[in-house]
Amino acid sequence: MFIFQMGLLEFTEKGIYCSHADVYIDPWKPVKKALITHGHADHSRPGHQYYLATPEAAPIIRYRLGNEIRIQTLPFGSAQTINGVKFSFHPAGHIIGSAQVRVEYKGEVWVVSGDYKLENDGLSTPFEPVPCNVFITECTFGLPIYQWKDQAEVFAEINQWWQENKDAGKVSILTGYALGKAQRLLFGLDQSIGPVFTHGAIENVNEIIRAQGITLPETQRVEADMKKRIFEGSLILTTPSSVGTSWLQRFKPYSVAMASGWMALRGARRRRAADRGFVLSDHADWDGLNAAVSATGASRIITTHGYTNLYSRWLVEQGLDAMEAKTEFEGEVNDVT
Ligand SMILES: [Zn+2]
Ligand SMILES: [Zn+2]
Repeated sequence: MFIFQMGLLEFTEKGIYCSHADVYIDPWKPVKKALITHGHADHSRPGHQYYLATPEAAPIIRYRLGNEIRIQTLPFGSAQTINGVKFSFHPAGHIIGSAQVRVEYKGEVWVVSGDYKLENDGLSTPFEPVPCNVFITECTFGLPIYQWKDQAEVFAEINQWWQENKDAGKVSILTGYALGKAQRLLFGLDQSIGPVFTHGAIENVNEIIRAQGITLPETQRVEADMKKRIFEGSLILTTPSSVGTSWLQRFKPYSVAMASGWMALRGARRRRAADRGFVLSDHADWDGLNAAVSATGASRIITTHGYTNLYSRWLVEQGLDAMEAKTEFEGEVNDVT
């Protein structure tokens, strides 16, 4: 039944499992007890009997999975010991409340990264390397072609594109995932150019985050009865899945841009029917992954998400004991809600 057994944690058909404590980390099938790194749909799935997450991540998990779920919180740096195994959450810098999970048993330490990035986005608690023996790392963008620019540079490009659209009498349609990317974009937008409107899927998430006491820049939800005039010179923040739907028609004439790590790939923008692509990701780039791996001091690395085979081979060439693991995590995909 087990895909492979490897020590303190193992990869089973339900997810990453600690048998000593009978606990799963981001399981993809229903389990008794789940530690959740963050609220994205591939990590935070329905049907578990008990959830444990950071206090910052819990509201969005509850919003997405329903108020009836049993969820408890554990702040960054605090530990919970289950049957002698010590679990703690440490900042992953990916989205609000996103955590790495540290697992310690009889002096051996494993860390599950979840999704992470090293650049401080001003919203997520910044990534902290956690020393460990074994590091289970995502590698969504684990190829040398993925090199992110400084976010300030990307935001300057986005704002320039917005200004140019405004000057040309066009509405700017900017897409990003509803949880994480959309809020990060909001912080980078220069609202002296014009007002920012949001798709309902994004505004719902904004409301949850504001209710946590976090101040987000001002936004207005697009309502069905709004007159076309009101959108002149504005920027509409929407989800990637809304592109190509009739929802966009009312904003004509417009220009569509996507903000995603995938925009670094040739052809990605065209395939997704966008006029512009901005390379902005909430995952670590190639240098970020290598810096994170080396900062843990881990001698064993297990790769998940994305280029697992190529990235683990690269690590082996660097003299590390590395292998890939098959999971049901998805990289930076189209987030539905
Ligand atoms: Zn994620
Ligand atoms: Zn993920």
